[in-house]
Amino acid sequence: MVPEISQRIQALAVSQTLAMSQRSSQLRSEGVDVINLSVGEPDFMTPAHIKEAAVKAIEDNFSFYTPVPGYMSLRKAVSEKLCRENGVEYAPEQIVVGNGAKQALCNVVLATVNSGDEVLIPTPAWVSYFEMVKLAEGIGVAVPSGIDTDFKITPEQLENAITERTRLLIFCSPSNPTGSVYTRDELQKLVDVLAKYPRITIISDEIYEHINYTGQFTSMASFPEIADRVVLINGVSKAYAMTGWRIGYCAAPLNLAKAVSKLQGQYTSGASSIAQKAAEAAYTGSQECVAEMRKAFERRRDLVVRMAREIPGLKVNVPMGAFYLFPEVSAYLGKSFGDRRIETSADLAMYLLEEGHVATVDGGAFGAPGYIRLSYATSDEQLTEAMRRIAAALAKLV
Ligand code: PMP
Ligand code: GLU
Repeated sequence: MVPEISQRIQALAVSQTLAMSQRSSQLRSEGVDVINLSVGEPDFMTPAHIKEAAVKAIEDNFSFYTPVPGYMSLRKAVSEKLCRENGVEYAPEQIVVGNGAKQALCNVVLATVNSGDEVLIPTPAWVSYFEMVKLAEGIGVAVPSGIDTDFKITPEQLENAITERTRLLIFCSPSNPTGSVYTRDELQKLVDVLAKYPRITIISDEIYEHINYTGQFTSMASFPEIADRVVLINGVSKAYAMTGWRIGYCAAPLNLAKAVSKLQGQYTSGASSIAQKAAEAAYTGSQECVAEMRKAFERRRDLVVRMAREIPGLKVNVPMGAFYLFPEVSAYLGKSFGDRRIETSADLAMYLLEEGHVATVDGGAFGAPGYIRLSYATSDEQLTEAMRRIAAALAKLV
């Protein structure tokens, strides 16, 4: 007899970003020439000075269990980075390093949410937020936005969504999947609302901080009205092209950092010694690589936006950060290719994969059916070809 799976895990959805990417790799291994715009991951190599630090860590025998919240030297480097770049104060003791921002986030959700607590999530939102809340037996409450408001929620919407059971807000700017970046003024208006509700802890996912074309980044933790209850999430995956190294962190009020550390101590222990040493080099070394990658992403953003705008029926905004385009595709719903009928954006994403050989992700996975997400973190040539294929596949739908 096969083992029965717990209800907790049965209720969990598969990560659609990872699933689409795996499906695209599988087709590729079968010989189909698929362009993968599904997973959000920089295509750049990790910068040389960071790799060298990892090699040195191996040679210097950093091979033992690491402290559960991370090496103190890395936590100090993160604390200094937060002060230098974001103007926020978190002591090294308030920083807990985990296996990617993903674990850091999940740790915080598990350490704050009780069964039945409500967690506000502005949508479209990254696929994992709702599922993490589900794991903690909380209730994810969507605060929806659409392309007409540049995918930003208003202070009124935020306030209307707050109830006595609201425990947490999970906020993300620059946003995955929309690329929207809130201005300081817009954030201030949300902060004015949050200031009235001291029970709400704010998770600010700032993983795309450096992939931002506005020239300005404001951390949620920099508002004194709420600073004592902002948990900042960040990591090296996106800014330093280090997705596989799996280093992220939370910077949290001390009691919460201790709770997160307790959880991690029973669950995964400290993150990889080698990867931590590499991350330390990322934070203490030259930041030129970050600016170079941002420049490339901005050029690619311009390219995909221009090409997407030439496709009739696609509605696109100009994303100011991250590396995603989130076009509205409802003009294509209800159309057909032969006897294949496209009813939903999920059908459309599957059609683009199977007919156009371009992997994208259905907006429904981010709580926003009627859209699809394209990651433009790939070469200009691949992007040009992918957009040409998408245009051709869409033109066949009648
Ligand atoms: N937050 C957001 C919004 C993301 O898009 C991702 C995707 N990787 C993560 C967190 C997790 O990043 P990682 O675990 O690679 O540090
Ligand atoms: N965050 C990336 C994405 O949205 C990586 C995949 C994942 O972890 O979801 O595609």
